[in-house]
Parts: sequence; C-alpha cells; structure tokens
Amino acid sequence: MFDRALELERDGRRIVHLEIGRPHFGSPPVAVRAAVAALEAGTVHYTANRGLPELRAAIADRTGRADAEIVVTAGGSEAVAAAVLAIIEPGDEAIVLDPAWPHYDGHVRLAGGVPVHVPCRGEDGFQPDPERVRAAITPRTRLLVVSSPSNPTGAVIEPENVAALAALCRERDLVALSDEIYASFVYDGAQHCSIASEPGMTERTVIADSCSKTWSMTGWRVGWAIAPPPLAAAINVVHQHLSVCAPAFAQAGAVAALREGGRHTDAMVREYGERRRDVLAGLGDLDAVRLRAPAGAFYAFPRLEIPGVGGEQAAIRLLEDAGVALVPGGAFGEGFDDHIRISYAVSASELSEGLSRVRELVTRSGLSARPSA
Ligand code: PMP
Repeated sequence: MFDRALELERDGRRIVHLEIGRPHFGSPPVAVRAAVAALEAGTVHYTANRGLPELRAAIADRTGRADAEIVVTAGGSEAVAAAVLAIIEPGDEAIVLDPAWPHYDGHVRLAGGVPVHVPCRGEDGFQPDPERVRAAITPRTRLLVVSSPSNPTGAVIEPENVAALAALCRERDLVALSDEIYASFVYDGAQHCSIASEPGMTERTVIADSCSKTWSMTGWRVGWAIAPPPLAAAINVVHQHLSVCAPAFAQAGAVAALREGGRHTDAMVREYGERRRDVLAGLGDLDAVRLRAPAGAFYAFPRLEIPGVGGEQAAIRLLEDAGVALVPGGAFGEGFDDHIRISYAVSASELSEGLSRVRELVTRSGLSARPSA
C-alpha cells in the first residue's frame, strides 16, 4: 500500500497516509542534542553488546529491573527476534494471539518453530479468550506472545485476562513474550498491566520495548529486551550475532529520551487521545463500519460490513479512488480480511481529510461490490 501510495504521489495525486505505524512528531530535542554531542565526541564505535552502561542504567531506573536482565537491541524488532530465536527450538510451538504484528509468526518460523494462532474476536473487543488459549496448548508449546496495547487493534488486555494468561504460563510452564512497545499509549483511564508483574511471572517473561513509539524515534533503532538473567544472557548471544549492538550515538541520545523525554511522550499521548476521539466521531456512526473504541496504541481496526468487499479490496479502492492509504486486516492474521487498520498518529488536519474521504467513499459513492459482469 505504501509503495503504491508513493507511486500515486509521483503521478501528482495527494494521498492521505493512515497506513504508517509511527508518530508524526519529531524526536525529543533533548535526545537529538545528546546524539549530536555523542557523534561529535566520537561515540562512533561498537558499544558493549548489551548496550552503553548509561543506557542500561536509564532502563534499569525506569523499569526497576537489574542490569543483568537488560539487553539493548536494534529496536524492539530485534528484541522480539532475539527472544524468539533464543527460546524456540525446532518443532516448538508458540501461541500468537491474532490479529497480530506479523513479525511474531515470521520469527517463530525462522527459529524452526510452529506458530499456533489463536484469534481474538472483534465482538470480545479483541480480548484474548484464556479458554481458547488453553485449548491451543500442547506438550510442544513453549512460548505465549502477548502484545498489549495491540498493533493492529489498539486493544489493551484487561487485568483479569492478563492474570488468566499468566496462570496458564505458570501451569503449563510457558515463557511469555510481552511486547510492550505501545505501553505509554493508553486512553480514557485504561491501564496497561504487564504480564511480567503477575505473581511468578518475572522469572518467565521477556519484555520487548523500544524508544521507537514512546519518544517517536523509529529511525534510531534503539530498543531492549528485559528477561531473567539466564534468558537475558541467551538473548544477548543471539543479539551479538544478529547486530552486535544498537547504534552507539543513538544509544547516547536514547539516554536523554529516557531520562528527560517524559513531556514529549505526554504531549503525543494527549494529542493521539484527541485523534482517537476524531476517529470514533468520524466513522462510528457509519452503518458499514463496525468500530469499537480502542483503549490504546494509535490504531483503530474497524470491520467493514460491505457485501462482497473485503478489507483488501476496500483498501485498494480507498487508495485508488479516494487517495487514502490504509492497511488491509488480512495482513495481521487469517480471518481478519474484512477489517482495515487505520493509524491515527497523524496531524489533526491529515486525519480529518482522511476520515472525510473514507466517509465520502463509504457512504455517497457507495464502496459496494461492483456488479459482476
Ligand atoms: N512491536 C510492535 C507491536 C510493533 O508494532 C512494532 C513496530 N511497528 C515493533 C514491535 C518494533 O518496533 P521497533 O523495532 O521500531 O522498536
């Protein structure tokens, strides 16, 4: 979609980008200054595999975890990859709660494992059903991937479901991989509960986190894994073979983001809280759009009820006819073809333009199936 959107833009079309999963803010100026100063001071070489000591200290202060539990990685993506590769042996099964960021499935396969997909239903607000998860566990299950707030649904897993998933991990001796990259983005009083904080779970959970979304630093490639020391050591071995270390000067900038970037995050969360309301107000009353208020992240994942038109067809028509780029739901798991993902991490004017184009196409010109020939 992004490539086709760029092609259309090259042809002079004005495209509204609601497909990209990143904040439209710049990075915190304090982090930019720290990275520039680090470059000028010659912080241009490899760092320790586990990351600059100052950054590990900042992560330890933020999370209350020990240095031996922290591995700085090239973004949250590498934290997820290294964790999966460290945990999964060929033939092991990993449970992925769908719809999900596609990397979990990809990394489990790369490790020779078998991803087992358990769908979370729109009518349940995309909450995981612990009984369905239980039914998917076999003697080969090793890992449960939990992502809250979720990309693509924005769902925040409710405390009782977090507790039930933790109980399953303890009972069936599973490791949890908790992707907390959107944890700062929660709205309307929703609370992010980490599965790592459940009783007995610190010692069997890997948390993947990153500067990318929290401080709008996607291009810096700084993230981290937090795991019990033996697992952190295994993750570090994979990480040193994958990328050696995260970029040195970016790590130096990340220290400033973690220590002094709080206001930047707060401003984004405030703004995206408003954009979230704009999405609900802009699409919530359309008969053809089933949309529940997402509690977190910066995505909405509505289902389209347009006979004969799936999410992919809808996304193509929205791009080609209305000039709005979105991601079809099928990209996030089987059975979600009738959904689309809207990223609302854009400016108010961009979102307003995008939403009115979607409304226009869905209502007036009728985004309905073209009569068959
Ligand atoms: N987890 C989720 C759920 C994501 O959506 C993303 C980025 N889109 C990541 C992890 C990784 O982001 P990064 O590598 O930039 O930290």
